[in-house]
Amino acid sequence: MYDMASKESLLSELKSMGILNLTVLDAIQNTPRELFISAEKLNQAYENIPLSINCDQTISQPYIVAKMTELLIGERALPLSKILEIGTGSGYQAAILSQLATQIYTIERHDLLYKKSKKLFSELNYQNIHLKHDDGFKGWQAHAPYDGIIVTAAPSEIPLALLNQLSENHGRMVIPVGNKLNQELKLIIRKDPQKYDIKNIESVKFVPMLSGKK
Ligand code: SAH
Repeated sequence: MYDMASKESLLSELKSMGILNLTVLDAIQNTPRELFISAEKLNQAYENIPLSINCDQTISQPYIVAKMTELLIGERALPLSKILEIGTGSGYQAAILSQLATQIYTIERHDLLYKKSKKLFSELNYQNIHLKHDDGFKGWQAHAPYDGIIVTAAPSEIPLALLNQLSENHGRMVIPVGNKLNQELKLIIRKDPQKYDIKNIESVKFVPMLSGKK
């Protein structure tokens, strides 16, 4: 079984790794990661490692979730208005984000994962998370523009539709880009309609972003 001690030690580990945003640390504190993983992994719920979920996919390492969330927010006042996530997976990242923005939109290409997360969000009463079973390469135009777009699978290039759906007023996108072996986490800030600042943050390893629904 997991225990509170392991949750506390995860939080101090994240702080020692440079996660400083107190709102992000609070969101991790308040989110029951044990409910987003499979029962046989329960004792590892608060270890700082990625874990496998269904359909050959993974729930990211808590450090990566925290880091990406911190980058997505930047110095902006909370809550943000709208965030788009590509790759719902277990739903854990969306659950964290739901505490930092008014509305969360999240897209998953795998029907089974989409259905599981939808059920879990309704059981846990996360009312501001909206899910769609679709190919995230297209984004979700109906609710654009987004203050933040977070991509949790790695495309080989930054998808154009996502760049277009980012707010022109300092919208921020956090996205791993690269091939199976070599990916770079990037932070993109849309300074005005035509101008995007792109910064490399660190090397990461995500599952590939794949086209089409499954
Ligand atoms: N954010 C997730 C991590 C998910 S792993 C969590 O917190 O658990 C990456 C997910 O991206 C997988 O579930 C995978 O099926 C999904 N994915 C890959 N390509 C996609 C695409 N084009 N559109 C939507 N989801 C995609």
